[in-house]
Amino acid sequence: MTDYSFVRRHLIDPAPKWRDQRHILPAIFLDRDGVINQEVHYLSKPEDMVLIPGAGEAIARINAARVPVIVVTNQSGVARGYLTEDDLLILHERLTQLLAAQGASVQGIYYSPFHAEGQGAYRKDSICRKPGPGMIFAACEDFAIDRAESILIGDKIVDLEAGRAAGLKTVLVRTGHGAKQADMPGANNADFIADDLLAAVDRLFETGAITP
Ligand SMILES: [Mg+2]
Repeated sequence: MTDYSFVRRHLIDPAPKWRDQRHILPAIFLDRDGVINQEVHYLSKPEDMVLIPGAGEAIARINAARVPVIVVTNQSGVARGYLTEDDLLILHERLTQLLAAQGASVQGIYYSPFHAEGQGAYRKDSICRKPGPGMIFAACEDFAIDRAESILIGDKIVDLEAGRAAGLKTVLVRTGHGAKQADMPGANNADFIADDLLAAVDRLFETGAITP
C-alpha cells in the first residue's frame, strides 16, 4: 500500500460511515474553482469565494444519496507565494460555510500546493498535482472508495486526465474554464459534458450513476 501521508488535506469529515473498510463506496470527486465556486485567478481572499449557482443544491443532492463528496484542487498559488496554506484553510472554511448555508457538505478537501516553478519546499513536480492522480488515490485509501464506480467532475482537461489516470469516469462542466476547455482536444474524453455542476448531477441521477 502506497503511503499517501504527504498529500495535503483540509476538513476531513471523520464520520465513520464513510470510513468503514468493509463497505467500499463510490464517491463524487469535484474540482473546486470553476466547478463549485466561481473561477478567480489565484483566489486568495475569503470574500472572493462565491458559489456557482446550483452548486450547493447539486452537492446537497449527492449528500442525500449518502455518496461522499471529495474536493481535489490544484493550489499552485501557494508554491508561487500568492497565499499560504493557512490562508487556504480559511478559504476552505469559508467554502464549507457557504455550502452549509445551502444544506450541503463535502467530506474532504485534498489540495496540491506544489509547482515545478514554485518557491522553496513547494518547488517540485508532484503526482498529487493534477493531471497526476495522487490526491484521488489518497482519498480512495482514506475513505475506502471504489474507483471504478466513482466520477470526477471538473472544468479543465487536466481534471479529466487526473480522473482517468485513477480509473474514474469523468464529466466536464462548461462553468469556469470549461467554457473554452469544452472545445479543446481532450474534452471528448469526458463521459459527458454538462452546462454546470447541477446539470451534471441531474444527469448522473437520471442515468443511475448515482442512486437516491
Ligand atoms: Mg477548476
